[in-house]
Amino acid sequence: MQIADGTVVAMDYELKDDEGTLLDQSQPGQPLTYLHGHKNIIPGLEASLVGKAAGETVEVRVAPEDGYGVTNPSLEQVVPRDRFQGVESLEVGMQFQANTEQGPVSVRVVKVDDDDVTVDGNHPLAGKHLNFNVTVQEVRTATEEEIAHGHTHLGGGCCGGGSEGGECCSEDKESEEGDCCSN
Ligand code: ZN
Repeated sequence: MQIADGTVVAMDYELKDDEGTLLDQSQPGQPLTYLHGHKNIIPGLEASLVGKAAGETVEVRVAPEDGYGVTNPSLEQVVPRDRFQGVESLEVGMQFQANTEQGPVSVRVVKVDDDDVTVDGNHPLAGKHLNFNVTVQEVRTATEEEIAHGHTHLGGGCCGGGSEGGECCSEDKESEEGDCCSN
């Protein structure tokens, strides 16, 4: 079976930046599983997998626009250090939740000065080319329920320990249907 909209794909993957640094990878025996055609993985990777079958290996270099987006300079801000009261040793790379007018945003510390701290709200992979090496492990037809929910059901099904991140429990439209969060 070939990868197309409405199939569930299991794949092993490695993700490196242009310098060859390993950024992310699936664990042995634990392939990433996703429902194709529902924007569950980054667009540039999803598009390159169309038509592939189990056993095939795909190498793809995804541009920032098709990955985690381009870097937005306005998301980098300098804030007074005294906003971080209670943080004993403030270090580059630390993550914080910042409350903004658009809601909570995850920011990371990129620079620490005596009086000021520079934080960056861009995704850590924004602005980077993403080099994926993917081996397709399995392709199967999604169930009607999976397509209705827009994600895969592994093992115990939706919210039974198998849904990724438990996202369905927080979506009102899912709980209204009753087949998701009531069991
Ligand atoms: Zn579900």
